[in-house]
Amino acid sequence: MYCKKCGAEIDDDAVVCPHCGVPTDNFKKQQNTRPDDAPNAGFAVLGFFFPIIGLILFLVWRESMPLRSKSCGKGALIGVIVEVALAILYVIFVFAAAGCAAAMTVV
Ligand SMILES: [Zn+2]
Repeated sequence: MYCKKCGAEIDDDAVVCPHCGVPTDNFKKQQNTRPDDAPNAGFAVLGFFFPIIGLILFLVWRESMPLRSKSCGKGALIGVIVEVALAILYVIFVFAAAGCAAAMTVV
């Protein structure tokens, strides 16, 4: 993003402009966030096992508790990736087993 005052390009997560020291939109956002916001491994695990719940919590907390919502989102993302990988492995396994069975009937 760009600083409102001096127009310098600054990091999207910057709270104040490093060039002129003027608070950015993130400064206000950070003040609005809850003090109990923190990365939370418990919610990451929850999101891992229940990606749908993780996604919902991620969307619900995105504004008020970005760090906790990030934990949920990360857990859900990893959960989805692992589940998709397991599904692919399962399909490969089934096909391999079917291939073996077919080979055995031929012989
Ligand atoms: Zn500036």
